[in-house]
Amino acid sequence: MASVKRRSFLKKAGAGLAASAVGAISAPAIAADMPAVKWRLASSFPKSLDILYGCSEILADRVKKLTDGKFEIRVAAAGEIVPGLKVLDAVQEGTVECCHSASYYFIGKNKAFAFDCAMPFGMTARQQNAWMYYGGGLELMREFFAEYSVINFPGGNTGTQMGGWFRNEIKSLSDLKGLKMRIPGFGGEIMAKLGVVPQTLAGADIYPALEKGTIDAAEWVGPYDDEKLGFYKVAKHYYYPGWWEPETQLVFYVNAKEWAKLPKLYQEAFASAAAEVNLLSVAEYDVKNPKAMLQLLAKGVKLHRYPLDSMVAAQKIAFELYDEEAKKNPAFKKIYEQWSKFRSTIHRWHSLAEHTMENFLYTTGSKR
Ligand code: CA
Repeated sequence: MASVKRRSFLKKAGAGLAASAVGAISAPAIAADMPAVKWRLASSFPKSLDILYGCSEILADRVKKLTDGKFEIRVAAAGEIVPGLKVLDAVQEGTVECCHSASYYFIGKNKAFAFDCAMPFGMTARQQNAWMYYGGGLELMREFFAEYSVINFPGGNTGTQMGGWFRNEIKSLSDLKGLKMRIPGFGGEIMAKLGVVPQTLAGADIYPALEKGTIDAAEWVGPYDDEKLGFYKVAKHYYYPGWWEPETQLVFYVNAKEWAKLPKLYQEAFASAAAEVNLLSVAEYDVKNPKAMLQLLAKGVKLHRYPLDSMVAAQKIAFELYDEEAKKNPAFKKIYEQWSKFRSTIHRWHSLAEHTMENFLYTTGSKR
């Protein structure tokens, strides 16, 4: 109907008016029907962690452009509206419509939150995406988050993290015993069983604790983010890999009632922008981390691989913890059983072409 009307109008208006008439009638006519919506997003991250905080800025920018400026999301850094670790509560209570965070910050509420973020000895970023988008993960997590009146969207990934900064070298499993290490979540629980005394400290409190020797070690993310916090100045030994975070997925939580109020087009814009962020953040880390790593090495940082015995022991403990949790937590059990099967299948698949190719490229092949 609209196009028929427009054609007859153009005929009447004549050739000279045609160009401006098309401009005036078509696109703005659609935009005029769209309501102006303003949301607030609370980030768990400070502006200084530019990739993590930047995920929210990219989302807001894309959503605004995709809706012709009608759907605006104002991004607030950690602490601006609510503290970084209170963003989920803020979304549930409707203080803000949405937030950007890392689900493992909330495993105190239920350990099943970890599946939406990072599981020690779990999957890589690519495998996590496969599980979330096509492997049943998103459905399971959406069902889980419905209990919190939240709709979740994967919203970024750090890739495999580094294994933290140590004041002294770790030569074997026994060197871990009695060490005080900043390592939150499941990773901390596993470390505790290896004899480490885990500590939970916010980002800004880690450096002074490491400097004073109140703690002996600390993990954060990877070279790019870690360099900003300056750990290399007080702990020279940098370990890899961060086996407790083989990938760390970030997330946008949206208040379910607010989501339902959005026009379909805005929902689509939000979902597309979140998926875009999920892709872009990994690419950005993969460009910035290698540069930061070279800078850290130039500053005298000593790289070490975790002793194999410590990783073998940690993996065994990790799966004992998951089995234990599954016995007492039905939500965890449901996701864990499906996740475990997916994990085994994709590990077997990636052990063929992917692993063989990567292994060659980074070892023999790199010496061409
Ligand atoms: Ca970490």
